[in-house]
Amino acid sequence: MSPIPYGRQDITQDDVDAVVGVLQSDFLTQGPMVPVFEQAVANYCGTTHALAVNSATSALHIACLALDLRPGDWLWTTPNTFVASANCGLYCGAQVDFVDIDPRTYNLCPNALEHKLVAAEKAGCLPKIVVPVHLCGQPCDMRAIHALALRFGFKIIEDASHAIGGKYLDEPIGNCRFSSVTVFSFHPVKIITTAEGGMAVTNDDKLAERLGLLRSHGITRNPGLMTKGPDGPWYYQQVALGYNYRMTDLQAALGASQMTRLEHYVARRHEIARRYDELLKDLPVTIPWQHPDGYSGLHLYVIRLQLDKIRKTHLQVFEALRAKDIVVNLHYIPVHTQPYYQQLGFKVGQFPEAERYYAEAISIPMYPGMTQAQQDEVIYRLREAMDL
Ligand SMILES: *Cc1c(COP(=O)(O)O)cnc(C)c1O
Repeated sequence: MSPIPYGRQDITQDDVDAVVGVLQSDFLTQGPMVPVFEQAVANYCGTTHALAVNSATSALHIACLALDLRPGDWLWTTPNTFVASANCGLYCGAQVDFVDIDPRTYNLCPNALEHKLVAAEKAGCLPKIVVPVHLCGQPCDMRAIHALALRFGFKIIEDASHAIGGKYLDEPIGNCRFSSVTVFSFHPVKIITTAEGGMAVTNDDKLAERLGLLRSHGITRNPGLMTKGPDGPWYYQQVALGYNYRMTDLQAALGASQMTRLEHYVARRHEIARRYDELLKDLPVTIPWQHPDGYSGLHLYVIRLQLDKIRKTHLQVFEALRAKDIVVNLHYIPVHTQPYYQQLGFKVGQFPEAERYYAEAISIPMYPGMTQAQQDEVIYRLREAMDL
């Protein structure tokens, strides 16, 4: 059997045709496909604005800037995430801090957040922005986090890089009911792909306008945003310091084509997860707990080894699986333990739930094209790796 990756894109002939169509058209970038893809995502999420960019990292960066995050401000997020959820704060010159995770959902814990906010209020260092991350696609407790945002006056950027196609309280993740901006990633391992790519969605007209400027050099062709009337038809103005974070039409065509299969993909992930739940229920592992308020996008299926019940270490199990071509992974190394963050003053031991999770977690293969035979192979090799 060939290697079984932890995640893999699904590319159909329709996707190929969509990209080739752009290659043969007049515009490889800044043509009609970016707005088509944006509209498809906005319609799906039920938001008024969607801005495609070249990565979720870029979307996080300009979302922070659009919310006016600056030196002297604080951004808080979970340590159990990809580094980009925290780095976006540092890009803006702000300081970053973390809130430990809930031991059942592995998402940012609202109780820990409340305790930290109460202390920060006393110390006069409340965050300007909190970035909850919907880990594995499972939505955070957004109602509780939003209530705290109203009480303590911070803004919320949802990092939904794992979560497009999921739901929270029966509404699509990304509708921004509990946040200012939601960000998606379209990296190939994620739920839908544009190779590289991301999107920011929002219901706030002013924020959308700023995001639009920031993704393209701070340049506008809209006379309404200029300091004076245009000199002529060629005219544009740079009114902010922005970046070249645009998505190409090639990527957007792929994304728009993938969007038509989003619900099918997430349904397939749920089928695979249900089968894993069944196959793993008698093994010494903790399977992912699903909060009843959410319908996960199921980007990842993470098991936690019950190390007191097996004779192997976490590393041994991981290596044994890799040796048998089960290309497992680990999401995530707690961000505060990265050397760069250690150098900023963070200490191992500061966020014990995230560290405990890291010592036990393994992301086992999960992607729509996975076969039952591959899933059976994963289970067979996992039992073997744990020496059962
Ligand atoms: C993948 C990912 C990102 C970054 O996405 P890119 O599109 O690769 O920039 C950010 N946050 C989380 C939680 C991710 O999983």
